Amino acid sequence: MTSRQTDLKTIERLYRRHDGPGMRQALHAWYLKNQRRLPWRATRDPYRIWLSEVMLQQTQVKTVIPYWQRFTAAFPDVASLAAADPQTVLKLWEGLGYYRRAHHLMAAARAIVREWDGRLPAQREAFRRLPGVGDYIANAVMSIAFDQPWAVVDGNVKRVLARLFRLADPVNRPSSHARFQALADRLLDTADPSRHNQAVMELGALVCTPRQPACPTCPLATLCRANQEGVVDRYPVRDQKAAVPEHAMVAGVVTKKGKILLVRRPDEGFLAGLWEFPGGRCHKKETASDACGRLVAAQSGLKVAVGQPVARVRHAYTHFKITLDVLACRWESGRVRLDGPVAFRWMRRNELDNYPLPGAIKKVLPHLT
Ligand code: SF4
Repeated sequence: MTSRQTDLKTIERLYRRHDGPGMRQALHAWYLKNQRRLPWRATRDPYRIWLSEVMLQQTQVKTVIPYWQRFTAAFPDVASLAAADPQTVLKLWEGLGYYRRAHHLMAAARAIVREWDGRLPAQREAFRRLPGVGDYIANAVMSIAFDQPWAVVDGNVKRVLARLFRLADPVNRPSSHARFQALADRLLDTADPSRHNQAVMELGALVCTPRQPACPTCPLATLCRANQEGVVDRYPVRDQKAAVPEHAMVAGVVTKKGKILLVRRPDEGFLAGLWEFPGGRCHKKETASDACGRLVAAQSGLKVAVGQPVARVRHAYTHFKITLDVLACRWESGRVRLDGPVAFRWMRRNELDNYPLPGAIKKVLPHLT
């Protein structure tokens, strides 16, 4: 017998022993009464549902709502997004983070216009091949927009399943994913996959929360194994994360005749296409002032006089944190010759806000006089 067959048998045993059908029923009854009114739940438009799922990855619902509303007002359908100026899209995305999502959305929209006449493909395999579409997004869109029987597995779903079934597989270990997916598949209500998937995620967001889950009011309290056995605080199991590294960075606010130099990052890679002040990582034992002069000269080709500190800001990304020292720099000589950035503009202080900027640079703006 293969390990996969063994695993499916275990899943089946868990499902039957812990009354999977009963869980499903109780969950649905609870969802009908308690679901939040969210703007993307009032539409059946696959494009708008797809957009909500992309925005909700790594971002909280209350943050996403105004972004989704502005985005759908600016780009009401796939064709308008496909034809959009990337800088306008990035500006609307500014502050949501994970900018690769915006680049992928644009690339996928162009592919949908080219290959699918502007309509999202309703076949999972075709949709899954689009840029930025992984298993989660594919299953969410296929089930919620097209009523197809695909179960979603995200962080909320894993936490709920781990507690309901006392599943001890670490939720942040990639090799655990298949097990959670198999259990979610088994629990799925194939007659109404849209409602079922949203109900599990809603329970994870509102009741079975990471800290202090509301077990006494949970619709699954009597069926939940962790709750019945008094061990909720032990689930979900997680592998210890490595410490997040912290990098020292500098940036120079280069001024010339009352204007400030802004440069644009390449269209690929980290923070692709965003605008920032020239700068980068400090070497070990290098002062912020020395690093600033070195990096501004290397990226812009300008000779500058590095002056006073403007601001020190901290910012956290997924896999690292930065401390960014920003220094005033006065242009002394030279014309801009870029090495690294792909475009530049000299602009007045009040024009900076018109460009899509990374979160760390946004934090610097109030310090600029
Ligand atoms: S009883 Fe508690 S731990 Fe179990 S699913 Fe409900 S909220 Fe989560």
